[in-house]
Amino acid sequence: MNSHTSSSKQNWTQGGSQLLQQHCRACGHVWYFFRPFCPACGEESPEPTQANANGVVCATTLVHRAPDERFKALVPYRLVLVDMQDGMRVMGHAEASLQIGDQVHCEIHTLAGQPLPFFTRTDHEA
Ligand SMILES: [Zn+2]
Repeated sequence: MNSHTSSSKQNWTQGGSQLLQQHCRACGHVWYFFRPFCPACGEESPEPTQANANGVVCATTLVHRAPDERFKALVPYRLVLVDMQDGMRVMGHAEASLQIGDQVHCEIHTLAGQPLPFFTRTDHEA
């Protein structure tokens, strides 16, 4: 109802080029899709905080079919699901070589014209 999205384009958090999260002062719940209230307890006015950008890969997929035109140029590309140190679970694009259990760091990259989380390895032992 009370949505004031400035454009129809999907904006990956509303944190611009940083990985941001929100934090509920009432119950301590942490999440990363910005919402006007806490999804756990309904408390209003959560605070945005900068997320800890490190985590561990818990699932990976190599995408061969793009979900829409903009991503066709990137195919095939790797998507990973990452358990962040703060307890969030974030899906994002990643280096093709990432595997389950890899330690990763998240940065926001512009892919297909929009800011998206991109994960690179932090443990560089070959
Ligand atoms: Zn809460």
